[in-house]
Amino acid sequence: MYVAGRWRSAPLEDAVTNPYSGELVDTVPRATPRDVEDAIAAAVEGARAMRRLPAYDRAAIMGRAADLVEDAVDELARTITAEEGKPLAEALGEARRIPDLIRLSAGEAARMHGETVPVDAAPGGADKLAFTLRQPCGVVVAVTPFNYPLLLVAHKVAPALASGNAVILKPAGRTPLTALVLTRLLLEAGVPEHGIQCITGSGSELGPALCSDERVRKVSFTGSHEVGRQIAAVAGVKRLSLELGANCPVIVMPDADLDQVSAAIALGGYVNAGQVCISVQRVLADGQVYADLLDALRPKVEAIRVGDPFEEGTQLSALISEGEARRVESVIEDAVAHGATLVTGGERAGAVVAPAVVADVSPELPIFRDELFGPAVAVTPVDGIDEAIRLANDSSYGLGAGIFTSDVRNALRFARDADCGSIQINWTPLWRADLMPYGGLKGSGIGKEGPRYAIEEMTELKTVVFHNVT
Ligand code: NDP
Repeated sequence: MYVAGRWRSAPLEDAVTNPYSGELVDTVPRATPRDVEDAIAAAVEGARAMRRLPAYDRAAIMGRAADLVEDAVDELARTITAEEGKPLAEALGEARRIPDLIRLSAGEAARMHGETVPVDAAPGGADKLAFTLRQPCGVVVAVTPFNYPLLLVAHKVAPALASGNAVILKPAGRTPLTALVLTRLLLEAGVPEHGIQCITGSGSELGPALCSDERVRKVSFTGSHEVGRQIAAVAGVKRLSLELGANCPVIVMPDADLDQVSAAIALGGYVNAGQVCISVQRVLADGQVYADLLDALRPKVEAIRVGDPFEEGTQLSALISEGEARRVESVIEDAVAHGATLVTGGERAGAVVAPAVVADVSPELPIFRDELFGPAVAVTPVDGIDEAIRLANDSSYGLGAGIFTSDVRNALRFARDADCGSIQINWTPLWRADLMPYGGLKGSGIGKEGPRYAIEEMTELKTVVFHNVT
């Protein structure tokens, strides 16, 4: 791990294994409370150094980092696949997004500004002049999940550094290696030695101390709802972004093109073995096209190639662990035991679950209510747009949602009434451009990512008033 300006080990280490083969990939140090204290103390110093860097210099560092990441795309992708288990083609897709994301962050940081405030419009303000200054908030703690070990790390670290903060990164215990490679590249690019710390170990052990510390001004967390709640409970008075779980719905109206819909669902429900926060989980299909949709979907899902993530052509591989695969298998079995129909898939071999379609799912079932985070979609018949929207919103989550319809009135109604952070018209929830505001409503969290929006939340406004200006 990288703490206080040097790479350091710890008395105990944790193994990182490949979820598909079970092979040991590497080991990482298990940080101690002493390491946490050192990281925070160094980050306070780092924040001072970062704040002194003009935007021009920060942009130059980030530009170099983007170039270095570009050169290291293969290494990064192979590390992602080794520790997370997603197919190499998907890992390459993830890694190739990062240089642009870093450059975007640098560009946004160059537009970080305040504004003049017309205090002369206030009583007694005639001889005054005021403006706001936007400044970095200082020490940012970034806690990230396993499923996108590079993308979701970069969505925090790049805006934080570009806007002049110091970062303490705590990557997921199962996928710390990619974050360590990125840390190395950022340091090579010229990030000041205390500007970034990457601390490895167990989140439940390190998290409370990191997130509750008063020297930390901002916690940016992506992960499960449960851990988000724990962080909110200990964070105290500081800025908090929580990008949490979901069980995203997609509505299919009778006027949709079922070929397009089934192809999009066969992708959106199964990318990264369904371990995506905006994965398609609930398909709400109008009764008029329900049977036809299942007919169109089944062969496309059965055509998904399952196998070794390093093998060319593999489209779906292991979940993050066998335990997770067992959990997903049991949620599917529970649905079938309670009246749902298994259209295809669902068999488990080790950590791999065959891509599944579960039909006739009643809204009371866990596969509809909870977050599945696995390669299955639950299909439920609905009677018209009113019931579809009601059921889409019948969730404690609200991250993404989609609707397939050629009727603009349905589309607009859905856009207004869906309680979700992002709404896709004629696509599934699984779509993201890195520059767009991204973040959920309700139990899916607080705040937005996407460099411009993340920087807004990682910086603070000060108001400056000049008096006696005559
Ligand atoms: P977890 O919530 O289990 O873990 C996320 C991170 O939090 C890990 O780094 C973990 O460390 C750490 N952590 C665990 N306990 C604490 C604690 N008490 N205090 C501080 N940090 C802690 O999520 P997963 O890694 O399993 O990721 C899957 C979840 O992430 C899903 O719910 C998914 O929907 C959500 N997610 C949301 C996204 C969004 O943008 N809304 C995007 C991607 C995923 P350790 O691993 O060491 O336990």
